[in-house]
Amino acid sequence: MVVAARRMPELPEVESVRRGLAEAGIRSPITKVWRSKLDLRVGEHWQRKHENLRCLVGATPGEVDRRGKYLLWHMSDRHGAPLVLLIHLGMSGRCGIALPEQPKVDHTHLVIDFEEGRQLRFVDPRRFGGLRAGPDVLTSEPLASLGPEPLQPDFDGRMLAAGLGHSTRALRDGLLDQTAVAGVGNIYAIEALFEARLHPLLECARLQPSAWQRLALALRAALLRGIDNGGTTLKDFRNVTGEVGRNQDDLRVYGRGGQPCPACGAALREFSHQGRGGVFCPRCQAKPRARKVG
Ligand SMILES: [Zn+2]
Repeated sequence: MVVAARRMPELPEVESVRRGLAEAGIRSPITKVWRSKLDLRVGEHWQRKHENLRCLVGATPGEVDRRGKYLLWHMSDRHGAPLVLLIHLGMSGRCGIALPEQPKVDHTHLVIDFEEGRQLRFVDPRRFGGLRAGPDVLTSEPLASLGPEPLQPDFDGRMLAAGLGHSTRALRDGLLDQTAVAGVGNIYAIEALFEARLHPLLECARLQPSAWQRLALALRAALLRGIDNGGTTLKDFRNVTGEVGRNQDDLRVYGRGGQPCPACGAALREFSHQGRGGVFCPRCQAKPRARKVG
């Protein structure tokens, strides 16, 4: 299995795109929506029949928001009723603002024309991204089952423990599930577990309240650092203006197997579990009294 190579944009990357779209300040109505003939992301919530992009014509864009790894562009439809355009970047999805005369690059799957003259373009070579629009986006899947936002002011260890405290899964896998905490993927989970000095394969149910709190704080710190650095670009990620992130140079352990631990100097160790790779420090993240999950 080669799934260890999955590199999905996580919360900081999506937040970087959100900020770029918000800074573009587009507030004029949508005049045209063009969608390529190719399907994006095949899955229950992502079939083309659910995309409903026609309802965007005549809509006026408002705030650009984010929930977990999903971009949400709030709009009012032509009758003034609320409507949301949801964009999931998948693995290689990019959003950009362009002018109509700029040539459309390969793998462009969505072009939205605004009355003021600019366009939103969604480009996705691997087509793991997803699009949806409608009045019910916020209350239906995939948003309906998302856990709390790790950057919301009251996010803490109790929230994490409420979602994962009884789980027999490995800690790292629980964090990736999106139902206990939204927006965390493998990179930031691995970084946060290192900061919290917790072994990635500890069984969730074995954590004490103090460890959940340490992990909640570490998650928040890792995500905020990622946002400050404009996201992590290991391969595909670009922001709205086409720039790569800088957080890949600031990762403490992810992708650094065999290198010395930045805290203690021991050689960082790689592991693979449930088809996903990761890195930990065998000394800082040791778990002498707990058993590993299988
Ligand atoms: Zn160490």
